[in-house]
Amino acid sequence: MPAPAQQPSRPAPVLALDLGGTHLRTAVVDAQGALTARRRTRSPISQGAAAVVEAATRQLDETRVAHRATGGEPPVALGISAPGPLDPVSGRLIDPPNLHHSLHGFALGPALGDALSLPWSLDRDTNVAVLAESRFGAGAGFPDLVYVTVSTGIGGGIITSGRLLTGGQRAAGEVGHISVDMDGPICGCGARGHLERLSSGTGIARSAHEALDTDVHAPVLRAIAAREAPRPLEAVHVDEAATAGDAVALDIIARAIRAFAAAIVSIANLFAPDRIIVGGGIAIAWGDRLLQPARDAVEAHAFRVQAARVRIVPAALGDDVGLIGALPLVAFGV
Ligand SMILES: [Zn+2]
Repeated sequence: MPAPAQQPSRPAPVLALDLGGTHLRTAVVDAQGALTARRRTRSPISQGAAAVVEAATRQLDETRVAHRATGGEPPVALGISAPGPLDPVSGRLIDPPNLHHSLHGFALGPALGDALSLPWSLDRDTNVAVLAESRFGAGAGFPDLVYVTVSTGIGGGIITSGRLLTGGQRAAGEVGHISVDMDGPICGCGARGHLERLSSGTGIARSAHEALDTDVHAPVLRAIAAREAPRPLEAVHVDEAATAGDAVALDIIARAIRAFAAAIVSIANLFAPDRIIVGGGIAIAWGDRLLQPARDAVEAHAFRVQAARVRIVPAALGDDVGLIGALPLVAFGV
């Protein structure tokens, strides 16, 4: 069985797989972080482990063949970004929510490494993202970075003194589960007032549905919910209602922005990073509406050394982080 990838002696192309909730992306990453032979299909993660391995192997093979057809060097290893929690040492997924139960405990790294006869490295999507931004993106040249993704969920990856912070059982970096309100609503993880419950897309939508389940006066939000039914509301609909002046929606959005700012102050104080890099669909859609209040809060409430040091910036690599990060993951990762 191919072993986990060791540090290669020279920069070389790496075959990359980004197993996401929506898409299965593959490409070859060269030493400069450039991608060739990209492929993207619908993600089969709601199906069983066998379907995922079959689809990923086929797509990775196509990618490898297409890359070779351009005259590129053959990839020397496989880097995999997947939803956490997972164990990068054994290459096993643990129990990622939203993934088919047959994938819980499944040794994805060894299965794909065997199928492709390549050494493999596997890590959580947010760790792969911070490695990508660190090497080729908004964090290039800085030793202390925190990456935060604000999307359907909220996750993070931390690089401190140039090294990925992994923590016990490699579980560190769950920035979505910072408590920002001891009396807040219950998070998907079961605890109260977490950042993810207040500021993620899922959390924002849930707050809207909970408000509509009461007799609260939210005419625009209610009308949008009726328009979208039977599909549930999403964060974009809550934002639409807020933009139209719905007081309940405005309150949910304002709370999401305040909770994010509070968490960023804690992150700045804890890690004294050079950059806090913010990616994910909501961060992209909201831009400075999300980031500027966080910058203002850091200026007002973080320790002076941390506040002077940190810049809170948008991610630079967009959806490509899960692919580009395969190179530093294989070369310098776990
Ligand atoms: Zn939580």
